[in-house]
Amino acid sequence: MNNTLSNTHSTPCHVMAKPSGAMCNLACDYCFYLEKEQLYPERKADWRMSDDTLERFIRQYIDAQPGEYVEFAWQGGEPTLLGLGFYQKVVALCDKHSQGKTVGHAFQTNGVLLDDAWCEFFAKHQFLVGISIDGPKELHDHYRVTAGGKGSHDKVIGALALFKKHQVEFNVLTVVNALNAQHPVAVYQYLKSLGAKYIQFIPLVERVVSDAETVLSFASPEQVTNQVTPESVLAKDYGAFLNAIFDVWVASDVGEVFVQTFDSTLASWLGRPPGVCYFAERCGHSFALEANGDLYQCDHYVYPDYRLGNIHQSTIAQMNQSSEARAFGEQKSASLNDKCKGCKYLSACYGGCPKHRFVGTGVGKPDHNYLCEGYYQYFSHTERAMKLMCELLTNGHPATEVMPLLKQERQGALLKSGLKPLGRNSPCVCGSGLKYKRCCGS
Ligand code: SF4
Ligand code: SF4
Repeated sequence: MNNTLSNTHSTPCHVMAKPSGAMCNLACDYCFYLEKEQLYPERKADWRMSDDTLERFIRQYIDAQPGEYVEFAWQGGEPTLLGLGFYQKVVALCDKHSQGKTVGHAFQTNGVLLDDAWCEFFAKHQFLVGISIDGPKELHDHYRVTAGGKGSHDKVIGALALFKKHQVEFNVLTVVNALNAQHPVAVYQYLKSLGAKYIQFIPLVERVVSDAETVLSFASPEQVTNQVTPESVLAKDYGAFLNAIFDVWVASDVGEVFVQTFDSTLASWLGRPPGVCYFAERCGHSFALEANGDLYQCDHYVYPDYRLGNIHQSTIAQMNQSSEARAFGEQKSASLNDKCKGCKYLSACYGGCPKHRFVGTGVGKPDHNYLCEGYYQYFSHTERAMKLMCELLTNGHPATEVMPLLKQERQGALLKSGLKPLGRNSPCVCGSGLKYKRCCGS
């Protein structure tokens, strides 16, 4: 790789560290990361990040950031498998190498191993913990299981109780898959009932290959196939999922519950950078670090062709400024096809994640986003409310005022149509089964 420095330290970067590699105590049916251990057959018995690699990473990562705040992100596999002692070392090393910068930590876990000691530690060191939950027990336990096929839902609920007890700051991450996509409102209401205030929905899109030359069974970005796994969400279902939840949220939860996709779209309408990389004009500089120090372009691109180097041979700052890293980020907009370039919602979508661009448009090679149909439905369905919120915010009003405004609009439209508004005790139209007065106000 070309390590020539053009302007060292000018571009911040983000690294998702995987100190346990792909090792996990669950065997979720849809997981795309478990099989990455095939890339490191020699590390099967020695999968832990060594003390030397850890200290090197912490020193280099802090050094690579031009700003005064550095956020570490710990993920896996399952990062708790390394034990609490590993993260006590992390905190001590961050103190040692902080250079006076403020250091924060985000930690993504399946929650299975968490106990009082872990949660005391998270609270004491202000870790922001992301916990994975796919909805109520029957939806969550369908895919998120142990190697023996046992569901993990009850462990997650136990972890959430510990968060409450120790006042751990947390958010929830829900993988939107073929099953839970059919139950959007039930999923959302359930997450809210657990006290979730910050919610991320991640669409599950993985493709299968039957290529004898690869050790991986999920397709890499270069492999030409549009056959998705049975667990993957359909594009139209993903759009319908977001829309149903948006309707509930915009009627009653604005300013109370923060759904990353909605915040990101609102930011785009306001002309600000979106919080979700999928919808940014460029990606890149958002790397994944494997346990042996290998640095990859992105968590979604942990494939040999996208390995930038190893922190034992190059520094993170050097790899961050390399021509390969810059080119990867630019490629997202440089490779947009004509359909996206002409799309009404280009500035909110930017063609989505390049890894999902594998369907044909009838012109040229298959390079269109698999989720496009769903994205388009979502952007058009939410356009009116998003524009209203933009107008409110740019005129110095809180976005929460969108809720009474939309309610007035709905009532006006109902009166005009001659239909009677719903009674407070009628079943809510969102399909939750709750009385209208106790539900979302749709
Ligand atoms: S909605 Fe579809 S056509 Fe429009 S920018 Fe996104 S992926 Fe492209
Ligand atoms: S490749 Fe996809 S997941 Fe990775 S940074 Fe770009 S948009 Fe995000």
